[in-house]
Amino acid sequence: MLTQAPRGTRDVLPADSYRWQYLESRMRTAAAQAGFREVRTPVFEHTELFLRGVGDTTDIVQKEMYTFKDKGDRSITLKPEGTAGAVRALLEHNLYADALPCKMYYLNAPIFRYEAPQSGRLREHHQFGMECFGAADATADAELILLAYRLLSGLGVSNLSVNINSIGCPKCRPAYHARLKEFLAGKVESLCADCKNRFERNPLRVLDCKVPSCQEQVKDAPSMLDCLCDECRAHFEKLQACLRTAGIPFAIDSRIVRGLDYYTKTVFELITKTPQGNLTVCGGGRYDNLVEQLGGDPLPAVGFGMGLERVLMLLEGEGIELPKPALLDVFVTYMGEHELKAFALVERLRAAGLKADMDHCGRSLKAQFKYANKTGAAFTATIGDEEAANGTVKLKNMVTREERTVAVNEAPAAVRTMTEE
Ligand code: ATP
Ligand code: MG
Repeated sequence: MLTQAPRGTRDVLPADSYRWQYLESRMRTAAAQAGFREVRTPVFEHTELFLRGVGDTTDIVQKEMYTFKDKGDRSITLKPEGTAGAVRALLEHNLYADALPCKMYYLNAPIFRYEAPQSGRLREHHQFGMECFGAADATADAELILLAYRLLSGLGVSNLSVNINSIGCPKCRPAYHARLKEFLAGKVESLCADCKNRFERNPLRVLDCKVPSCQEQVKDAPSMLDCLCDECRAHFEKLQACLRTAGIPFAIDSRIVRGLDYYTKTVFELITKTPQGNLTVCGGGRYDNLVEQLGGDPLPAVGFGMGLERVLMLLEGEGIELPKPALLDVFVTYMGEHELKAFALVERLRAAGLKADMDHCGRSLKAQFKYANKTGAAFTATIGDEEAANGTVKLKNMVTREERTVAVNEAPAAVRTMTEE
């Protein structure tokens, strides 16, 4: 127990964290290029926020939340998605009063869902999410889809498909609900237990069920796209026109409804094919009523969430290596009695912006060289008796084996020169 992480969680170890950092920097750059700034919200919020924000007929709220009472007897929930917290922050800090749209992103946000752990499905995962508040136009939806697509394809993910749908608005959805209910009425007995419940409370969710027998039942279900009101239809058409202009491939899939109740109009998913089947890397959509539902004035919004673990899993599956930074530029090796000189040299190298280290374990000179090799340091800088007496250091390029003895104060510049030669 003590030395085992809880089920469904994963450590990112020092040898692998560069992959996360690289991905994060690509995400930051993509967000910044489109005028999005970072928001950081707490890992936990009042449970009520998610009950109202995510929707109490969703799997997340019904089955997956990590909810507990704190010592002050308040009901607290670990973030099961990123949008509700972002909306709460927007309202609490009156961000809607600034020039709109208000564009924000969150990066590496831990998300907690009590799910059955399996490949690509964790109980703690991390999301990169982008949210754009105050823009009703379909260009905003298209911008987000494009950002997600370009980010993933730029990383080298292949087989990426963009699937879009419109689930209408409170004006046109009730008529569709009625049609769908009529269609499902004769099939209720063949639906899974969850879907029997969904049929009563939110029939749209049946379309989203992952149970194969339910998928079979809904394959000829009526499509929301046939029921869209004029406004929603025009919006959906403009979205498609934008995507066509940008030249990215996309497909319309009228069965996408997404796992959260707050969506209106556009919903979308970015999916890749893996040997284990289809994997959704990114999901999002428009949620024009959520801000109002959480107590604000009506404010249109659109956003997405992208799972970092899933992106990394895809890259690994496709054999895509991410750039790995060198651990050290210089490893300082020294004869025992010159320890303090070595210590000062490490400081000098670091102050000059180089990555430097030395032995802290009392190793022999030979063992220090062996260790230096292991670290992959590009150079060693040795202080033996002669160097110590002359105020010099012997630099050695670990690849070319070239050696050069230079004055200690010239060591950083010499390392740079030898690197460039
Ligand atoms: P799924 O249909 O796979 O359950 P979802 O609809 O619940 O996904 P969202 O709530 O839209 O997913 O979350 C956005 C993204 O976060 C997903 O596209 C996926 O990349 C990632 N994600 C969601 N749940 C998990 C999880 N349990 N483990 C790892 N990544 C996840
Ligand atoms: Mg899910």
